[in-house]
Amino acid sequence: MEKETLAHYDALRKELLDEGIDIELDSGYRSVEKQQELWDRFSKKYGPDVGKYMAVPGYSEHHTGLALDVFLIDGDKIIRDNDDLFAAKDLFARVHKRLADHGFIISVLPGKEKICEGLAYEPWHYRYVGVGPARVMADRGLVLKEYLTEFHM
Ligand SMILES: [Zn+2]
Repeated sequence: MEKETLAHYDALRKELLDEGIDIELDSGYRSVEKQQELWDRFSKKYGPDVGKYMAVPGYSEHHTGLALDVFLIDGDKIIRDNDDLFAAKDLFARVHKRLADHGFIISVLPGKEKICEGLAYEPWHYRYVGVGPARVMADRGLVLKEYLTEFHM
């Protein structure tokens, strides 16, 4: 993972731990080959719908070293399965509140799937964009593409 991203992730994790929330790194940097492997595996499970669950190899934010997935530990319970993670709404609401202060955004916001190439909202997938942009996007409910369009970048 990219150095600055990792440093900010560590700070985020520490702050959440102080609040009694334990996030753990599930997946950071991913090569195109690794993404292809996952794509092939998910294709067996989801068939032609696979594109809803992950980005096409070569186009994943995980290739940038700026994106990461987390899972949760709640007491002695490990919350790592996608369905369980989706159900952990209260915990994620508290995690999401802290993201912008550490420069992270939720890559696909609920309702913004279309703008995000049809990818699904995943409460556990974050992208580092820097504190300034992250705060603007969080305040205004923007995904990166909207932010970049609005600021003519
Ligand atoms: Zn991800």
